[in-house]
Amino acid sequence: MARASGRRRSAGGGSRPGEFQLIDALLGPFGAGRDGAAQGPGVLVGPGDDCARLQPAPGQRLLATTDAVVDGVHFDLTRCTAQDAGWKAVAVNLSDLAAAGARPRWLLCALGVPPAAGDLLATARGLGEGMAALCGRHGCALVGGNVTRSPAWSLTLTALGEARRPLSRAGGRPGDVLVLVGTLGLAAVGLRLLLGGARGRRTAAEQAALRAQTRPEPQVAAGLAAAGLASAAIDVSDGLLQDLGHLCARSRCGAELQCELLPRTALVRAADAASAARGGHRYAVSLAGGEEYALLLAVPPRRLERLLLALERAGAAWSAIGRLTAGRALRLREGGRRLPVPARGGFDHLGGAGPG
Ligand SMILES: [Mg+2]
Repeated sequence: MARASGRRRSAGGGSRPGEFQLIDALLGPFGAGRDGAAQGPGVLVGPGDDCARLQPAPGQRLLATTDAVVDGVHFDLTRCTAQDAGWKAVAVNLSDLAAAGARPRWLLCALGVPPAAGDLLATARGLGEGMAALCGRHGCALVGGNVTRSPAWSLTLTALGEARRPLSRAGGRPGDVLVLVGTLGLAAVGLRLLLGGARGRRTAAEQAALRAQTRPEPQVAAGLAAAGLASAAIDVSDGLLQDLGHLCARSRCGAELQCELLPRTALVRAADAASAARGGHRYAVSLAGGEEYALLLAVPPRRLERLLLALERAGAAWSAIGRLTAGRALRLREGGRRLPVPARGGFDHLGGAGPG
């Protein structure tokens, strides 16, 4: 929180809040100010200087990732709260750290603020509250960033984490078992409910789907448990098929999925069935539903039992859903029979396509 890019404004000038008021609104929920004070372990200088000064723990690799969420693209402030949006901005980044088996440590935030649209300070504070709520769970400190004018609200976060033995998409081998942590398709169903807009009484299952969409839980504990045991990992942010494809490409493998083993709630089963009834794929939603933030792990069979035990100790719900194979083909099975591979693999943030 050192400087704003773009034109500086004095605090309180006109009806639009100044840059520093907006920064204070965002930092407030973290209990942080712009005085450079240390805000957690390993933070020597926090927000308020030109750079944060951080001290990684000895023997750890530093993992870095960045991801932006934009109003109207990744969230919609007319359908969710600012707290939801702040939470999600952190979740998508911590999910990438989870895929690296890394412990989240520090976060930098570039906030884009639109021209006067409602109470800007209240929205900035809400975004900060949502971010701080998820950061607090994982011991992750906000250590800096900036504020700039922007056509829409946006949060571009850079997350830094540490791991002694980081995981990557490469390293999987033919024969490795594919283990999925979390569920599939639930966030996609939640998005449909959100866009459907009906305000009637939600069932518990519908509320869970809405939560999966608005408050995704990054699989941080599972990633930490898998470090040193899994051969490869990726977080499922853009749909299982698409992200499995990325893992296979980096690991130079193919894969075979047993679709009947995919973890699906009753709502997702119903959504898949509805897709099939319209002539779509029998597993369209669970295979291609985006924004799920599940964790896909590959593990050599000799380490499978240790991995599953470690996941259970971490409180992670897992499903063994298939294997990596020789060659580059992706095959889908249901019981003994082959299923076609859907043409459209997942969510494209530039094209905006969702599951069919
Ligand atoms: Mg990712």
